[in-house]
Amino acid sequence: MNIEADFPGGNILVDSVQGDTVCLRQDRRTTTEWWFYWRFRVRGAAGRTIRFQFTDGDVFGVRGPCVCTDGADWRWLGRECVDGTAFTYAFAENEDRADFAFCIPYVEADLRTFLTWHPDVRQNVLTTSERGRAVEHLTLSSRLGSFVVPITARLHACETMGSFVLEGILAFWREDSPESRFLQEHVDLQIIPFFDKDGVEEGDQGKLRAPHDHNRDFGPTPRYAATRAWMALLNAWREKMIVAFDIHCPWIRGGRNEEIFLVGSPEPWQARQERFAALLEQGQAGELTYHAQNNIPYGAEWNTGEGNTFTRFVRDNYPVAFAGAVEFPYAAAGGQTVTADGARAFGRDLARALSQYVQEHSGLC
Ligand SMILES: [Zn+2]
Repeated sequence: MNIEADFPGGNILVDSVQGDTVCLRQDRRTTTEWWFYWRFRVRGAAGRTIRFQFTDGDVFGVRGPCVCTDGADWRWLGRECVDGTAFTYAFAENEDRADFAFCIPYVEADLRTFLTWHPDVRQNVLTTSERGRAVEHLTLSSRLGSFVVPITARLHACETMGSFVLEGILAFWREDSPESRFLQEHVDLQIIPFFDKDGVEEGDQGKLRAPHDHNRDFGPTPRYAATRAWMALLNAWREKMIVAFDIHCPWIRGGRNEEIFLVGSPEPWQARQERFAALLEQGQAGELTYHAQNNIPYGAEWNTGEGNTFTRFVRDNYPVAFAGAVEFPYAAAGGQTVTADGARAFGRDLARALSQYVQEHSGLC
């Protein structure tokens, strides 16, 4: 039996293999606090039942681990296979390879697949990352270019579900609905799909990276090339920026972390967010339901507004814009199981509300 993690998004440390029990743990690398992302591949275990004993905390979401046995489609294994901090998997007789992960993975290769089906998305490069990778910059250009909406995802590398939400936003822009047509006419989407590109490809947690992570880099002296390049572009769009989005996933499980929610802002931005939230709540059609009551108020829990985040940077420098941080859960939303398609459907809901919001605030219809 081989346990591998030397592929994009891979992350595991194997402590020992004894019989049918593997002791292993997530690789936290430079993350300064406990975090929970992991992903590995097993080969050569066909016909065996293997217990994967994690040795660094409970790293399973509310639907257990994810598995992929065909190299393409991922599904949740459910909590039934979980026993404490271990899970057990019975490999079929002909199952020579299976991939396991904390959540449904998403790396550059997945984006490439999406883009082959969406050739209208213009592909540029924002900058070169610290470890020499191209940081993608995607654009959907409207006919009139009246407004620019910057959108970021994966400022925290491990927050994969945000990428499926992003796919939904991109897909909605091109659809044949009144809201889509307004976007095609007036709204340019400017998107950084993998802000921490190195972290995404190398399988880092990304969150709470030392000395600070990408979503604490929007201060006077940015550490990362992506932040510096993005700041310059935002400034170039300052006259046309009306909304900006930053897509995240929350904590591993529990309470609000099993809901879709928006991160509250101070006034006057809070009033704009509440209007946007109402539009989103009213217009949504996806199976995963957003409730504005789950938003985390500004000043509550961790939402102190003190870090040098992307959304705070937009508020401070472009106060006419509404900068929304969206938190999309890993495994469950309101008791419903999160799937890639469910996340995409929420992305479409988000794009619809975005269109309605811009129409209202611009007086254009
Ligand atoms: Zn995040």
